[in-house]
Amino acid sequence: SKPIVAIVGRPNVGKSTLFNILAGENISIVKDTPGVTRDRIYADVEWLGKNFTMIDTGGIEPDSSDIILSQMREQAQIAIDTADVIIFMTDVRQGLVDADARVADMLRRAKKPVILVVNKVDSFQKFMADTYEFYNLGIGDPIPISASSKLGIGDMLDEVIRHF
Ligand code: GDP
Ligand code: MG
Repeated sequence: SKPIVAIVGRPNVGKSTLFNILAGENISIVKDTPGVTRDRIYADVEWLGKNFTMIDTGGIEPDSSDIILSQMREQAQIAIDTADVIIFMTDVRQGLVDADARVADMLRRAKKPVILVVNKVDSFQKFMADTYEFYNLGIGDPIPISASSKLGIGDMLDEVIRHF
């Protein structure tokens, strides 16, 4: 069967936006209804002749950092248990936060391939320097993308399929 790629990251980093671009249609709901837990959503994706199944691990939109962290841990565990490659998405506008570091620790221990993506780099000129702090997560080179402007997506996918 096809390799599975899961997207993990804090609420609002842009996971569903990326998922929807790759899925080619709006299968996933970008703005989850507050307080509603959503199921994982699947899409078939093809890049350079390689096919894989993508999972968007949605979830509630919590306003407490405790809940954010526990939800991220749950997402990360789902990804660790089911995915062949994990896309860990962060947000250059919010910068590196503690919850990112905690989840990075979990992913590192799982020894699955992790692609570290820094989203919302809408202008490489303006925001590229801000992506370097994500090296501190210790899970590899940060790949800058802008899901909404569709920048860097090809480079990210090249990196994903390298692990199949
Ligand atoms: P999720 O909670 O991680 O699934 O995030 P969403 O995909 O729902 O996106 C959260 C918000 O970030 C939405 O308002 C998106 O339009 C916005 N967003 C997503 N990608 C980008 C991006 O590349 N640049 C900017 N500026 N905003 C983005
Ligand atoms: Mg989402």
